[in-house]
Amino acid sequence: MGATSQERYAVVSCHVERPLDDAVWERFSALQEKHPGGFAIAALMRPADSSSGEDESRWLDRAREAAARGPLGHHTHWTAPDHARPTNGDPALRVRTEGARIGALGLGPTLFCGGGWYTDADVAEACAELEYVDCTPRATRPLYLAEGECWALLSSPARVQLSSGRILRAIPTTHSLGDIGRALLRRRPLPGVVHVYFHDTDLVDRRRRTLIQALLPLLARRATATDLDALAAAMPDDQPVVTWDDVARL
Ligand SMILES: [Zn+2]
Repeated sequence: MGATSQERYAVVSCHVERPLDDAVWERFSALQEKHPGGFAIAALMRPADSSSGEDESRWLDRAREAAARGPLGHHTHWTAPDHARPTNGDPALRVRTEGARIGALGLGPTLFCGGGWYTDADVAEACAELEYVDCTPRATRPLYLAEGECWALLSSPARVQLSSGRILRAIPTTHSLGDIGRALLRRRPLPGVVHVYFHDTDLVDRRRRTLIQALLPLLARRATATDLDALAAAMPDDQPVVTWDDVARL
């Protein structure tokens, strides 16, 4: 599925930050069910945080529901449910521990996205070990990151060679809602693979919910609507490889 000027594909993911908040979950479920614009929206779900008293069995029910409606991913908030980026500890260990727990619960997430766009060489290794396709790389620098904060830069899907020799497949996140709104309304050029993301919490804001429902059908007119699993399955094995050092940014 190499994108040429004639072929453009678009995928959509949602960072499910508050999977145990009933009002937020209800909105997300309804949207994912609806397939706006023909998109199977990937649920990149933050696991239940038992140290914060979150109910894992309710979380599991919801993760299964999401997995039945679209691609399922693992979204790590390293510090706390409401604090995405790491402030201490071993970020890769957290990904491995959460990934092992999600697997033990019988789920098979295929995607990953680091909270607050954080990633590093060890987190990338953990993702490769878990056979995740990584959506943490961004096509542009996240605006809120301070100088010296780790993130990863990638403009199109790629296979990333890690220092262990493992290959991490990555499909970068290219557009926020604001970015895709401006690009569509001003008819700006779009990349060969457009990956739009939003947060589940956006859906409780009526204006943002309406915006998502309006933009996705418009996007589907400029690009073929597909989903992250289909896109990953179509990535050729002989796709050129970049190294982790090519994508790692501070
Ligand atoms: Zn998040």
